[in-house]
Amino acid sequence: MAERMLQFVRIQQQMPEKREAAARRKDFREIYAGFEPAQAAEQASRCSQCGVPFCQVHCPLNNNIPDWLKLTAENRLEEAYEVAAATNTFPEICGRVCPQDRLCEGHCVIEKGFDSVTIGAIEKYIVDTAWQRGWVKPPLPRRELPQSVGIVGAGPAGLAAAERLRLRGYQVHVYDRYDRVGGLMIYGIPNFKLEKEVVLRRWQQFEAAGIRFHLRTEVGRDISLAELRARHDAVFLATGVYKARDVVLPGAGLRGVHAALDYLTAANRHGLGDHVPAYADGTLHAGGRHVVVIGGGDTAMDCVRTAVRQGAASVTCLYRRDRANMPGSMREVHNAEEEGVRFVWLAAPEAFEGVDGRLTAVRAQRMHLGLPDATGRAAVEPIAGSSFLQRADMAIKALGFDPEDLPTLFGEPGLEVTRWGTLKVDHRSMMTSLPGVFAGGDIVRGASLVVWAIRDGRDAAEQIDAYLQEQARPAVAAE
Ligand code: FAD
Ligand code: SF4
Ligand code: SF4
Repeated sequence: MAERMLQFVRIQQQMPEKREAAARRKDFREIYAGFEPAQAAEQASRCSQCGVPFCQVHCPLNNNIPDWLKLTAENRLEEAYEVAAATNTFPEICGRVCPQDRLCEGHCVIEKGFDSVTIGAIEKYIVDTAWQRGWVKPPLPRRELPQSVGIVGAGPAGLAAAERLRLRGYQVHVYDRYDRVGGLMIYGIPNFKLEKEVVLRRWQQFEAAGIRFHLRTEVGRDISLAELRARHDAVFLATGVYKARDVVLPGAGLRGVHAALDYLTAANRHGLGDHVPAYADGTLHAGGRHVVVIGGGDTAMDCVRTAVRQGAASVTCLYRRDRANMPGSMREVHNAEEEGVRFVWLAAPEAFEGVDGRLTAVRAQRMHLGLPDATGRAAVEPIAGSSFLQRADMAIKALGFDPEDLPTLFGEPGLEVTRWGTLKVDHRSMMTSLPGVFAGGDIVRGASLVVWAIRDGRDAAEQIDAYLQEQARPAVAAE
């Protein structure tokens, strides 16, 4: 092993510089700077090159982390980029948005008492450097194949599949109802976690490689799934989950009560230069408002932090469990607190109160945690007589997402779904109940992560390739 490694005893963990909260509150730029070259090499050298690298085991893409850390420590960055890109379609995006504390870094076992290697930040550094130096190339195939694949959804799952299939030479057509490529990476995740330029430059490369994008095309409305199946040799469904989970509460129809994704999409569109009437007229803008966000996941964290940046008068997050039981990443909660968000733990909304049809407060009640339920999570129980009013002229519901009724949407009653409404697939072949129609990403897993969507897209591409090769094989002549 190179002498450069195993430096964790001598060198302390250091994250890239994080901008001061006061400055962060004023704009939507990413909050972390990149590593400087010497700092990246130094941080990479802390890795102890474990025989069984648990970081890799717990990365959904099984990235070859120890190898690219060693190459970074040795300043062999182009090789590090090749290794990082071999298993991940968007390593620079994962380096920014993966909840590393729950994945790779959370399982880094340098040695007890030492902080983990800063894997995500180094992955971002390697690939941002590759972009700067022109090493990232369009996924051009060596030869063209006649078969075509229709991909529905230009989120990370659809794009990862598109890249792999195009590299193999297939004619790849991606259909999306939106006007831009990226799915939730473009219209969901805010700029301060993922600057949109990072997504847009990938889109350009995919177009340069001959991947055909059919935007503003909603499958089930503008074109049917049956038509797509007739047009292409295989279809991959990667449409994500968008139906906002809701609580039926009195006053939900008041002006000022919004769904999280409407709010975040408006902010992202504005950031991309679009004219968004509901943003411009203040309906979906938190400036000067007392904002209450309901929920404790990453979407809720994105809403509170967006509201802070829009100049809200106050931002409060109501969550029915406590901090330790939050589904969101602790790093994001910490960032939100630094930026001035107030958390009210163990509080659930009861009603939206208003005057003249306009929201004025959220009535909530205190909860306490009971015994764990069947899933192992502590049950929440209301405390009688504990209601209180939280001033609000804007309330944002961030309670998660479910799939639409897909068989109806796609006009395919034969398309089987699970009891959660997600698409049922054969877990080995990733094929749905319709022959030649594959699926992956959130539409199969339920709301998940970018990195899992990439994994599904790449796996589906393998399966689609195998299926198409099988289809192309000449049938054995009947005796
Ligand atoms: P999506 O990204 O949802 O893409 C699906 C695409 O399909 C969309 O472009 C949509 O327009 C299109 N589509 C849908 N229906 C149709 C149709 N009928 N016809 C044509 N096109 C259609 N994950 C992380 O790892 N880190 C984070 O920090 C993070 N933050 C998040 C913040 C928010 C606010 C949200 C909502 C999610 C976040 N996620 C995060 C989750 C992550 O974005 C998703 O898990 C991931 O994008 C799923 O990828 P996908 O390709 O399956 O679907
Ligand atoms: Fe970690 Fe995500 Fe990168 Fe895997 S893809 S190494 S989990 S940051
Ligand atoms: Fe290096 Fe940590 Fe992975 Fe071990 S677990 S190989 S120390 S990054």
